[in-house]
Amino acid sequence: MATPRTFKQELVGVFGYPVAENPTQAMVEPAFADLGLDWRYLTVEVHPDNLADAVRGARAMGWRGFNCTIPHKIKVIEHLDELSPAARAIGAVNCVTHRDGKLIGDNTDGKGFVASVADVRPISGLSAIILGAGGAARAIAVELALAGAVDLTITNRTASTGEALARHVSETTGVKTRFTAWDRDVVVPETTDLLVNATSIGLFPDVDARIAVDTASFRPGLIVCDVIPNPPRTRLVRDAEARGCVVLDGLGMLVNQGVIGIRLWSGLEPRPVVMRRALEQVFEA
Ligand code: NDP
Repeated sequence: MATPRTFKQELVGVFGYPVAENPTQAMVEPAFADLGLDWRYLTVEVHPDNLADAVRGARAMGWRGFNCTIPHKIKVIEHLDELSPAARAIGAVNCVTHRDGKLIGDNTDGKGFVASVADVRPISGLSAIILGAGGAARAIAVELALAGAVDLTITNRTASTGEALARHVSETTGVKTRFTAWDRDVVVPETTDLLVNATSIGLFPDVDARIAVDTASFRPGLIVCDVIPNPPRTRLVRDAEARGCVVLDGLGMLVNQGVIGIRLWSGLEPRPVVMRRALEQVFEA
């Protein structure tokens, strides 16, 4: 006897504006297929004026959850029922889960980053320099602090934003976080374990953009991370490789946050290798 068929898919997706170049669908749908799930991940352009209606729509249609990207990560909070402790500390949500009729906001940006670093060394006791003070830097700094980093330095072009972030991380996590002005090439001290580019420098099409860091201060064993997923082999990644550093690219962070999102929505464990391969095809990495 034929197996009864269902034509109803479970829905998740991403809301953003603009959103057309967001590659998450290309990474998540192959993971669903690999898990044997007939789920769809929709890339949905939602104008800021329509965010409330879009969230109401997702709720009404029983979406399992959705990601939020620029410019919705903060505004979405007022439409949700609960926040995870990390989302509350970061003050932004990029992943919403629909569970038992409630919309629960989380932030997987920093968690994906921390998972990438934890693959190469324990976070406990870590000393890090974070370049940038925008949304990605904020999520990374808070999650590093919550995961056991002991010494954080924020360096940012706009001093007021950098100072505000350093203050926020110190106050919300209790981990010593200082700001240093970015008025010359950053020299990485011997005591620093990790340097992360959390600015948008290097993002396509500015693929050869130079970040103001003194690469002569890079040493073998220093962990150098770049959040830029497109292209993954940024100039910083290439320079750090040439100096024998441990290098983590932006694809790893993207994959790890995708893994966390799928876990939150489905309760299942996707295979990161499937997701990374799918993204590499997109970016021809
Ligand atoms: P924001 O716009 O919030 O912040 C941008 C940051 O970059 C600011 O600190 C800004 O400094 C700095 N910046 C931009 N241009 C320059 C420049 N020319 N010189 C010095 N500093 C500069 O962006 P997000 O934090 O949301 O995103 C940053 C990057 O992270 C994006 O490229 C995004 O693609 C990537 N990202 C990657 C993820 C992943 O999973 N791989 C996840 C999330 C983000 P200032 O304050 O002075 O303007």
